[in-house]
Amino acid sequence: MDLFYILTIIALVIISAFFSAAETAYSSITRVRFKAMAESKHKRQVWAAALGENFEKLITTILIGNNIVNIGAATLATLFLTRIMEDATLAGTISTITITVVVLFLGEVAPKTLAKRNPEPFALMAAPIVLFLYYLFYPLNWILGLWQKLLTKIFKSKGDTAITDEVLITYVDEAEDSGEIDAEESELIKSAIEFDDLTVEDALTPRVDIVAIDVTASTDKALELFRETGYSRIPVFKGSIDNIIGILNEKDFYKLYMDGQKKIRNMMSKEVVLVPPSTKLSDLLKRLQKGKMHIAIVISEFGGTMGIITLEDILEELVGEIWDEHDDIEEPVKVLSENEYEIAGQYTVDDFFDLFEIDKDPDDYDSVTVSGFVGEILDRTPQVNDTLTFENLFIKVLSVEYNRIARIYVKVNEKQEFEDVNEGLLLRGLKSGSDEESEE
Ligand code: ATP
Repeated sequence: MDLFYILTIIALVIISAFFSAAETAYSSITRVRFKAMAESKHKRQVWAAALGENFEKLITTILIGNNIVNIGAATLATLFLTRIMEDATLAGTISTITITVVVLFLGEVAPKTLAKRNPEPFALMAAPIVLFLYYLFYPLNWILGLWQKLLTKIFKSKGDTAITDEVLITYVDEAEDSGEIDAEESELIKSAIEFDDLTVEDALTPRVDIVAIDVTASTDKALELFRETGYSRIPVFKGSIDNIIGILNEKDFYKLYMDGQKKIRNMMSKEVVLVPPSTKLSDLLKRLQKGKMHIAIVISEFGGTMGIITLEDILEELVGEIWDEHDDIEEPVKVLSENEYEIAGQYTVDDFFDLFEIDKDPDDYDSVTVSGFVGEILDRTPQVNDTLTFENLFIKVLSVEYNRIARIYVKVNEKQEFEDVNEGLLLRGLKSGSDEESEE
């Protein structure tokens, strides 16, 4: 009889370990992975996916099972000890302490730690048993579900439970890490998620780079501009660039030019889309598509021209750099030597950290581009020849356009030297940057 008690208690602790491992295994598998499993031809994968897709009920099933076996083990241990000991209070105390320790070490922590390391094989192995219990406990599960609903209703949370962009991006990262999608797909999905947060200001071509023409200029001047710049659309202004009154379209221009038209005013389209820099790119995209337009003029809060933005600028935020036939291709990363690089200011902080294996989270910084990042570290508008040291990198600003860094020089130093004295060097780097500046 004593042996029966002991063997049953051992069996219950083993079952408790099984439930704990199952809970961890199923909680560690991502939703995306469950979706992929559902498509599989293997039965166990389909079962595991079915369980994963009903996650709340699955966890309740496991909880019911785990509670039954844990309470069962504690009860049997107490019964057993009261049989062999005279003092019932002492027997109860010893059994409570022993079962708590045993369940904690063997029934909880150990199986959870192991399942965390290899969640998927364990989830597949456990799938038939868990599925059986899922149906066995279904009525109880259903009642608990109602109880849960009632509690949620009573203690309604006012917190926002909507999935944030960050959470979505984490899902995409997980899907990429587990191989469901490749790096390009991941990049595209992430750009699409972030797209709605981007405004015209993030993508415009700044005022200083605008190629525009005075309405009183000659057609020869327009011909020259089209030929030299390769742009298909040139804004037309009256008096100053702050007063754009039309867009000269290359095709219309050539046609009318051949017909003998001599006045730019009569060759331009008077339809000009004006937008403030705070306009969402997604809204502008819709507006341009609807109006069959390709270009918009960005007007600053003071009424002046701040820049221009074209469909291509908007699409580049989604799919990355698009090179036109006439674009001067500027490599984002130029390798100068084994440990020296030239990087474009528009290179993203994510790619920059990846490239130089910086063990920091790019999201800890506000900037999206290297240009913004350098400014953020310097804590001011960057200037040519500014230098700084970040982690094991020595950085020097090579060129600045419209207060944006166009290119930086990066020298990679030995990591070892820098790891411990990181912060100090960062400060020293900043200091040397400002020293050089004051010398100039
Ligand atoms: P298309 O490809 O239809 O021939 P495009 O090459 O002239 O047009 P886009 O492809 O729309 O121009 O834009 C390419 C880049 O050139 C964008 O960054 C855009 O802001 C910029 N751009 C276009 N027109 C001008 C212009 N007149 N002045 C300065 N930058 C321009």
